[in-house]
Amino acid sequence: MPETDMLRIIADLSREFGDDRYVRGGGGNTSCKDEKTLWVKPSGLSLLDMTPDRFVAMSRDRLGELYAQRFPGDDSGRESAVARFVASAVLPDSKGRPSVEAPLHNSFPQRYVVHTHPPPVNGMTCGRDGEAACARLFPDALWVPFVEPGYTLAKVVREEMRKCRELNGRVPDKVFLGNHGMFIAHDEADGIRAIFKEVAGKIGEVVGAAGREGEPKVRQLSDASAVEAAAAKVAAVLGDEAKGKTVSGWFKVPAGAISPDHIVYARSYPYAGELTAAGLEKYRAERGYWPRIVALKDAVLAFGSSDKAAGLAMELAWDGAMVERYAEAFGGVKYLDERFVAFIENWEVESYRQKQSR
Ligand SMILES: [Zn+2]
Repeated sequence: MPETDMLRIIADLSREFGDDRYVRGGGGNTSCKDEKTLWVKPSGLSLLDMTPDRFVAMSRDRLGELYAQRFPGDDSGRESAVARFVASAVLPDSKGRPSVEAPLHNSFPQRYVVHTHPPPVNGMTCGRDGEAACARLFPDALWVPFVEPGYTLAKVVREEMRKCRELNGRVPDKVFLGNHGMFIAHDEADGIRAIFKEVAGKIGEVVGAAGREGEPKVRQLSDASAVEAAAAKVAAVLGDEAKGKTVSGWFKVPAGAISPDHIVYARSYPYAGELTAAGLEKYRAERGYWPRIVALKDAVLAFGSSDKAAGLAMELAWDGAMVERYAEAFGGVKYLDERFVAFIENWEVESYRQKQSR
């Protein structure tokens, strides 16, 4: 297939599966490939903004050499060395920083790969019974429990695919990642669409049977002036980190970390309980940063260094609330371990993405 046709098709798929039913902010990524070249979405761009000329062209051979490299043993040293290595696979006439998941995209033999985080799917990937449900609903799919995104994830998926190939003579077209999302791969665009439909249908049935379809309840704001007073109280403590603000009626904000994107945009934990300057200071002392989400008795407040950052924090808190609702159909939500939370919070690659969204 000519390169221009392939790029037009993957750009169409990116926008088709790029709205907030599938991803939020700069989340998710897409790619297409031929024998030699992988074209992948750049980091920091949203799927909805993708056009054929915006994909980063990379050498597939060079990307394949990743697994033979020796990298530093510590998390941050390794991840920045890996990011440099991945950047070295970008072809000379191409520009943009490739998605950190480029090596993972390269492991799929299929032509098109679409990676998203739909809330109902994450109801399963974040559910306590998610793995068992996945085996029942999608026996041909690969389930990968949460591991550190980036290098470790790429390595684990590559190894699991090798095993699948050995066992079944083919690799799966669906990969579900615990507390993260899913990868879908197919040689044809309509194949990608058909898999999305199959997944949405099967997960929708489970969610519906548990009476958890639809959206979480939102209570209307009852006392707007009290909410304004609370927001001013937070702003007085947070300073520049509260230059942006968004207010919503009350909904049940997740109490822990749902997935990497929720951590990146909304922080791992909301501030809850009595709203005092001392309480906010204590949160910061314990975590090393200010909260983005403040859960009040009858409202939810989101803060950030700009209105855009605050808006994204609110979007992810809401997305997390949906994931929690759907996870009730899969044994209830399972938050990410503190060890993984710390890894994501310190992840250099992710902080780059976050900067792009300011
Ligand atoms: Zn992702």
